[in-house]
Amino acid sequence: MRIDWHSHVWRSEHLEPEWGPELDANVAPAPAPSALGHYDSHLRAMDAAGIDVAIVLALVSCHVELEIPNEYVADFVRANPTRAIGFASVDPNDPQAVDKLRYAATDLGLRGLKLSPPYQGFHPHSPEAWRVYEAAAELGLVVTFHQGGVFLRRGFLEYAYPSLLDRVARSFPTMKMIIAHVGQPWVPETVAVMFKNPNVFTDLSARYGRPWQLYGILMNLLDYGVWDRVLFGSDFPIYEPEDCLARFRTMGREPTNGLAPIDPALIDSIIEQRPLSLLGLDIPAPTHP
Ligand SMILES: [Zn+2]
Repeated sequence: MRIDWHSHVWRSEHLEPEWGPELDANVAPAPAPSALGHYDSHLRAMDAAGIDVAIVLALVSCHVELEIPNEYVADFVRANPTRAIGFASVDPNDPQAVDKLRYAATDLGLRGLKLSPPYQGFHPHSPEAWRVYEAAAELGLVVTFHQGGVFLRRGFLEYAYPSLLDRVARSFPTMKMIIAHVGQPWVPETVAVMFKNPNVFTDLSARYGRPWQLYGILMNLLDYGVWDRVLFGSDFPIYEPEDCLARFRTMGREPTNGLAPIDPALIDSIIEQRPLSLLGLDIPAPTHP
């Protein structure tokens, strides 16, 4: 089964006034990704890439008034129950965060949680964050962290180091965690956290456009024996999954000037052999009338 472990649906109004305009200006100027995240575009992009199931992430931040609502993600998943699994987002700075997370998991049927210390502006060890982790662990949610560099001018890099997640991973050893984008640019920190914590995974989303960096990332992951916890992700709609797959597969043929190709079977294993069950997830069985 081919899974896209990192994708979004959104409408441009969810991203205003700050996050979406800065995304458009700094990351992928044309076409503006803020305008491309509607439900039908998501389904078309996943079909074009042969993706069976996509993890679809909400994202909220009080700090930048960003809100891709949990309900918006849940409605998409409800309409496409065999193609999408939704992850909620709550902001630990919000006093209602735990209540909102319980509602998202139990009433909306979302299966994971997206957090981002550098976009939401919280220290990963803060008491506010801890009560959210406790609830996520109790609810059996997978937690995806954007823990790494950000494009946002008002983002918080002091909260963004992947090594800060070691304390979380060892305190909640049964809670599965995904460090998105391999924690770029602090890839060795991400690998160090994965190496000692078997409940920590990573996704390669948004890394395919930097072939030198991606080559180094893959070598690091191989060297430390954590390859079986590396997941394919696109970060749609910022990037098209079909294009991500093509660029990733280039690493198995002609990576970049003078570097030896990576065994295509290893690349294929990330694309094709990371089932939902690896992180304790599943899709509902089809119902027959
Ligand atoms: Zn993303």
